[in-house]
Amino acid sequence: MRLLVVEDEMAMAESLRAGLEAEGFAVDVAGDGEEALWYAAEVDYDAIILDLMLPKVNGFVVCRTLRERENWVPVLMLTAKDGHLDEAEGLDTGADDYLTKPFSFVVLLARLRALLRRRGRERPTVLRAGPLGLDPARREVHHGDEPVALTAKEFAVLEYLMRRAGDVVPKPDILANVWDFNFDGDPNIVEVYIRSLRRKIDERFDRTFIETVRGAGYRLIVATEGDEATTGAGIEPGTGSRS
Ligand code: CA
Repeated sequence: MRLLVVEDEMAMAESLRAGLEAEGFAVDVAGDGEEALWYAAEVDYDAIILDLMLPKVNGFVVCRTLRERENWVPVLMLTAKDGHLDEAEGLDTGADDYLTKPFSFVVLLARLRALLRRRGRERPTVLRAGPLGLDPARREVHHGDEPVALTAKEFAVLEYLMRRAGDVVPKPDILANVWDFNFDGDPNIVEVYIRSLRRKIDERFDRTFIETVRGAGYRLIVATEGDEATTGAGIEPGTGSRS
């Protein structure tokens, strides 16, 4: 899950980034409205956290511009101001939710997850590959009934592979979706996470889920012979599995 945080107060922006990254999100930060619109045009974000009072282009205008460009990314708007007028105006410009500063990070996270879930209503809520199931909203992975404990980044890599199960996923795609623009380390970091996922899943359950396609990338194997028919489709339709 990749997020854009638009906030001109650097201390606030960095604390949001740190908190969200600890939750496993990949986070880009834009310091003004112009930069926000540039990022949003370049990257397909899962959600945008948008401060209202921004240099150059304010949050209302950013939001309205996104919608005019038919960009329907969920937007959670932040403001230091208080009052019904602001809220109404924010929602009128196409924001999905609204949070008044100061807010607690826990509340922000809950609102954000609700936004991501709401948008995800028509998507599968549990991603599946044979006996392996990953629930993005609950941040859980199971093999059959056995829970698999993953770090936030391992989870993000696996989620991305599972969303594209059956496809060959190039390493740069994983890097771009799980890390962020500021990542300037070794791209081979992806291999490190693939190795640890293999240790925790493939080796533990004695089955190859993550296949290396030489020179091309990685492929998550959807199902092999012997899987139950119901687990072989790659994706389980959402609604029934959340009850
Ligand atoms: Ca501000």
